[in-house]
Amino acid sequence: MESTLTTEIVAIDGPAGAGKSTVARKVAEVLGYAFLDTGAMYRAATWLALTNGVDLDDAQALANTTRSMNLDLREVDGRQQVLVGDEDITHAIRTPEVTRQISKLDHNPEVRAHLVALQQAFGARRPTVAEGRDIGTVVFPHAKCKIYLDASLEERTRRRALEFEKKGIAFDSKQLMEDIRQRDHRDMSRSVGPLKKADDAVVVETDGLTPDEVVDRIVRLAKERA
Ligand code: C5P
Repeated sequence: MESTLTTEIVAIDGPAGAGKSTVARKVAEVLGYAFLDTGAMYRAATWLALTNGVDLDDAQALANTTRSMNLDLREVDGRQQVLVGDEDITHAIRTPEVTRQISKLDHNPEVRAHLVALQQAFGARRPTVAEGRDIGTVVFPHAKCKIYLDASLEERTRRRALEFEKKGIAFDSKQLMEDIRQRDHRDMSRSVGPLKKADDAVVVETDGLTPDEVVDRIVRLAKERA
């Protein structure tokens, strides 16, 4: 059940590499809202399962692990910090291993129900810009401002490649594009909480736009609808 919404929510969904995190964080900053990266929550649950040696094919064990997770998302100097217990896992949840294994739990109904409830509780406490895959459809279906952020596969691959270059991580461009294509397919075809544009979402195509231009457009929409 969705909590009674007394706060403003900006819901941003879209495929991997569309720039959701960068844009959502800046929109939150401009509006003075909290920022909620829901992908980080699925990543944290996957990290915990891997760290605890949980059998990733055991759906019940994954659900139990997720429910037992003591997750804390903090804003520190404009950056999001992710903690489980008192362990800072901000960087550990971004490894290729975690990214690959998320598919073991992202379609688990109990895992999703628990994380969705946490996300709704977060949004009920303060005005929030939330980004993910099912924010406008499942988590905050009554949000007044919903955005579906998109970009071509080529553009999203180019952006990921730039990120990897900056971090000095070796990659193969063709493989990178294939990984993103497969993730799109998985995100869009899962039976629970699939990536889908909400009927009332505004599509923002970001090919050829700078992050600041995208932020301006979303801030304008959010203000119009507030
Ligand atoms: O946004 P990010 O790339 O960090 O998300 C990682 C993965 O977490 C997604 O590919 C998807 O499997 C899962 N996810 C999800 N629902 C969300 C956010 C992320 O299933 N709302």
